[in-house]
Amino acid sequence: MYYKSIITFALAAAATTTVFAQEAKQYPEPEPMTHKMTEFWEPQPPVVTPGDQCTQSAPSDAIVLFDGKDLSKWQSSKTGGPAEWQVKDGVVTVDKSKGDIQTRDKFGSCQLHIEWCVPKGIEGSSQSRGNSGIFFQGLYELQVLDNYKNVTYSNGMVGSMYKQGRPLVNPMRKPGEWNVYDIIYTAPIFKADGTYLYKPYITVLLNGVLVEDHFEIQGTTEYIGLPQVKKHGDGPIILQAHGDKSQPISFRNIWIRPLN
Ligand code: MG
Repeated sequence: MYYKSIITFALAAAATTTVFAQEAKQYPEPEPMTHKMTEFWEPQPPVVTPGDQCTQSAPSDAIVLFDGKDLSKWQSSKTGGPAEWQVKDGVVTVDKSKGDIQTRDKFGSCQLHIEWCVPKGIEGSSQSRGNSGIFFQGLYELQVLDNYKNVTYSNGMVGSMYKQGRPLVNPMRKPGEWNVYDIIYTAPIFKADGTYLYKPYITVLLNGVLVEDHFEIQGTTEYIGLPQVKKHGDGPIILQAHGDKSQPISFRNIWIRPLN
């Protein structure tokens, strides 16, 4: 009993000494901050030669999807065969009788540049005037429409994610002039159950003016019904051949920079 007490006392004393020893431990003062401590030098971003500012040609690391010569990077969405829209004088014009065309390659997150022109003297109104569209991953439509002095539902007008996000403004150029879309699209990430862990996002400049600002896409862009969430991977860029009766629009200078 006596020895037990001694041992207990000794252990307690040792523990107390350790605590005091810990409390007394001196740590070195952190080094004073210098400018170098918050500078990262490696890795350096790859060097990219930008395109020409006037012609808006592709930067050096872009995939050119249409350079004015042919549609070799595209196929018919309907048949999987060659894309049969007409290429002439450096532009490709929608052929509504042939249906949509899509890229042969599949993409996820990307930066896309695409120019489009509504023909002078186009007729029709609301959705039936120069209607086309650009689908990301084959599912999410950024509307292409002639909304120069042409009113339609705002979440289906030019610059809208169709039936989801109306544009912030309408910087549309008049028929006969070229419009330019510069788009940053972020692909969604899915949970195992097929719902979104992270929804798709899109930022869009039309003619250099912001029209969609990191817009959160809710699902597929349906003509009738609510957005649907379908698990998917990379998909093609689709250009729409809309069934309205107005004169077809043209595209030129299409390039993409995959971001994943
Ligand atoms: Mg459309």
